[in-house]
Amino acid sequence: MIESLLSYRVGDLRITRISEMSLQGGSPQELFNQNFDAEQFAAYRDKSTEHDLQADGEHLIQSIHSWLVQSPEYTLLIDAGSGNEKERPNAPIFHHLNTDFLTRLASLGVSPESIDYVLLTHLHVDHVGWNTQRVDGKWLPTFPNATYLFSAIEARYYASSASHNEVNRTSLGVYEDSIFPLIEAGVAKLIGKEGGEVLNGVRFIPTPGHSIDHMSISIESGGDVAFFAGDLMHHPLQVYNTEWNTRYCEFPAQASASRRWGLEYAADSGALWFSTHFAGTSVGRVYREDEQFSWQYR
Ligand SMILES: [Zn+2]
Repeated sequence: MIESLLSYRVGDLRITRISEMSLQGGSPQELFNQNFDAEQFAAYRDKSTEHDLQADGEHLIQSIHSWLVQSPEYTLLIDAGSGNEKERPNAPIFHHLNTDFLTRLASLGVSPESIDYVLLTHLHVDHVGWNTQRVDGKWLPTFPNATYLFSAIEARYYASSASHNEVNRTSLGVYEDSIFPLIEAGVAKLIGKEGGEVLNGVRFIPTPGHSIDHMSISIESGGDVAFFAGDLMHHPLQVYNTEWNTRYCEFPAQASASRRWGLEYAADSGALWFSTHFAGTSVGRVYREDEQFSWQYR
């Protein structure tokens, strides 16, 4: 059974979340590791909603999903979830998945063939999986007519076993089954470090830190801006504790600086924030009072 999908209008765009997984009961101590602070967490509890914490007030609720963006000119996906049937020996929650992600897409009348572009904020395990699917034992592009846009630096970085470490170990094998097949098929378009406009109104914005060349994506239409933040944050509690990095942030100092930049940008511009890992609608606005930020779901 597929729940009705909530769409947002931004200018001429229609933006819809395509859910892959709901993550229930994560431990904040584990996710935020050495950044976790019990007092700050207790202070956040008052600001949280029922979408963010389980009823016990101790455990997190999160989501993994893609964003479908439909404009009069194109249909695109931002980020590509974890994918089905992938071998993920270091990440049990992503190992041999069998979700109905493509059925959800089809329920909107969107076939894999109708996706024109797939834009990736970064190349971690939970953002690239649906790039490919297994056909007769071979990993082939899931969206056969799409051009896939992603960072050249990230492609080079994750291709090298010298870059594998304790922090990015959950993404082991990802390059081989979800990135290289795109390059081999000639459907990858690599983005330079400076980012920039890739389609009319669609812009990659460098926000490095969570990963080596992480990029956020903004889409402007009719004077309004949708801001796809990628993994600048994994949970709304980081709006209130901007220094908190997760254990998956590869370059912590840069990750905090980029998070702060993103929050300032969204608060000052009024851009609508489309998150990758918040639960609820995963969409909201950021407000700023002096140096303190706050979050409201939309
Ligand atoms: Zn992620």
